[in-house]
Amino acid sequence: MASVQIRGIQKYFGGTQVIRGVDIDIEDGQFAVLVGPSGCGKSTLLRMLAGLEQITEGEILINGKVVNNMQPKERDIAMVFQNYALYPHMTVYDNMAFSLLLAKIDKDDIKKRVDRASEILGLSQLLERFPRQLSGGQRQRVAMGRAIVRDPQVFLFDEPLSNLDAKLRVQMRAEIKELHQRLHTTSVYVTHDQIEAMTMADQIVVMHDGVVEQRGKPLDLYDH
Ligand code: ADP
Ligand code: ADP
Repeated sequence: MASVQIRGIQKYFGGTQVIRGVDIDIEDGQFAVLVGPSGCGKSTLLRMLAGLEQITEGEILINGKVVNNMQPKERDIAMVFQNYALYPHMTVYDNMAFSLLLAKIDKDDIKKRVDRASEILGLSQLLERFPRQLSGGQRQRVAMGRAIVRDPQVFLFDEPLSNLDAKLRVQMRAEIKELHQRLHTTSVYVTHDQIEAMTMADQIVVMHDGVVEQRGKPLDLYDH
């Protein structure tokens, strides 16, 4: 587990300010959901957490450590992307193993990690398949597997369910929450879907036009 603090974050793209001073505290083990309309800055904020986007102003701390100048791979985070970003020419096994190979982790350890992730995600029978031979839900699980094998303290989700049909979306919400609990991670989850935010979050952060409009537990925000 790990806490995440976002302090006075601002972001400019060229002369345009898209994040206008955002502060968010996420406790150890919390499932935080950033919600808001398209263009309000959710992904940019998540990408700054991941180290994929420069911070113009402010600080991000993971487990009390300022990570502003750390490379993505030094941050103890793993990101699950919207479009799955699977390698089409690699098997399920290799898709999950690939980043560990690059990190020069030894093959026995890689196999252990991939086996564990596959078991957690119900992918054990599908390891030899290629992405095109999988359903949407299975592909999404492989994308999650690629994050799990890294054994991160913090999971970052960028609209991971938006390509799935409604029924699968509901099922995968529950799966992601179970995963979060089982692995004792801290999660930051971005969505534009208020219902998804309501049903999944310990803490909801409502964003609008680069600022935090509201922040709190789901019931405190929407009940009255
Ligand atoms: P959201 O995830 O809430 O839909 P984004 O964080 O993707 O919003 O985008 C926030 C704003 O920043 C938008 O106005 C978007 O057009 C702009 N933006 C995002 N990425 C870039 C970029 N690489 N260059 C310029 N503007 C960008
Ligand atoms: P090598 O030539 O060293 O076996 P590979 O990348 O083919 O290199 O495999 C590395 C390890 O990962 C092997 O020990 C193998 O057991 C395991 N492995 C590779 N692909 C799969 C797979 N689809 N299912 C299960 N284990 C696999």
